[in-house]
Amino acid sequence: MKSLARPLRARIHLDAVRHNYRQAKHLASPARALAVIKANGYGHGAVALAQALTDEADGFAVACVDEALELRESGIHNPILLLEGVFHPDEIAVVDQAGLWMAVHCREQLEWVLASRPSRPLICWLKMDSGMHRVGLAPDDFAASHARLAACPHVGKIVAMSHFARADEPEHPYTAHQIAVFEQGLAGLALPRSLANSAGILAWPQTHGDWIRPGIMLYGLSPLPDAHPVGLQPAMTLESALISVRDLQPGEPVGYGGRFVCERPTRVGVAAIGYADGYPRHACDGTPVAVNGQRTRLIGRVSMDMITLDLTELPDARPGDPVELWGTTISAHEVAESSDTIAYQLFTGISRRVPLFHH
Ligand code: PLP
Repeated sequence: MKSLARPLRARIHLDAVRHNYRQAKHLASPARALAVIKANGYGHGAVALAQALTDEADGFAVACVDEALELRESGIHNPILLLEGVFHPDEIAVVDQAGLWMAVHCREQLEWVLASRPSRPLICWLKMDSGMHRVGLAPDDFAASHARLAACPHVGKIVAMSHFARADEPEHPYTAHQIAVFEQGLAGLALPRSLANSAGILAWPQTHGDWIRPGIMLYGLSPLPDAHPVGLQPAMTLESALISVRDLQPGEPVGYGGRFVCERPTRVGVAAIGYADGYPRHACDGTPVAVNGQRTRLIGRVSMDMITLDLTELPDARPGDPVELWGTTISAHEVAESSDTIAYQLFTGISRRVPLFHH
């Protein structure tokens, strides 16, 4: 049973996720869209997201068989793509049984597919390394690999996919380079194409192709440096409450290591959230936090279960008052920037201690 006594929780706004999914599809119309809900829906709760999107999503994308099976077991019948394919040939039997789609990104996986004996044709997303240099078939290997797959009687539809390394830098030429490498590697093959992650969808319309793969934008954040006019809605509000308030004098330190020392009479509030909940321990002094909907700042080190805030400018704040860590008043981007990380890591780092409330 989830404890309701500790005030910390993440509220997940399913309407916002539906809105953001529609915005992605609208921008890339008529492309179809796989909602990327790997890593428990970037921490938002994959099953609840899939249920909220099941009537309209063209499909979902996850990282591994376990994530896909969790969706199937909760009654999700939409197509589900394994973004990294299978990690062992025995998993192909599960792919077959659960009717999953699989990426094929290396020669080993290709051989596993060819040697498998599925009960129905396998749908394969053949992945090219167009410049990320992480996974994917070499461009000059792609056409030959495709020919082998296409000739295999138990392989069904084939989609050509690749992934961008720097699409969130709209001025950088590397994305154009990757697009050119991809097209060259395809050597005129008339395959359905899938390139665009959120940054591709928002900044590189020429990459929309047949299938887009929105991730972070579903959760309401644009990965681009400047706000995008498309109007995304934050899907998660991480909220807690003040559990203590005290007044300190100039020279008095706050928290572990005395990192923050008051320079003036300071009212310090304590909120129930810490690094064991997924709040970033490296958040620096000044990281924005909202109390009663008003912005203030973190002071002192983040502890395992608590953070300390400057309430000097909010003299009416009392224990029990609501604290927003990120959501509508504070963007997770801002917290990430103050913590030398990215919002993706903040979302996926939310720990099991934090109950998710979907509505
Ligand atoms: N496509 C692939 C292959 C991915 O690995 C990811 C996420 O890492 C995405 C799409 C979604 O990316 P984003 O969250 O930046 O939209």
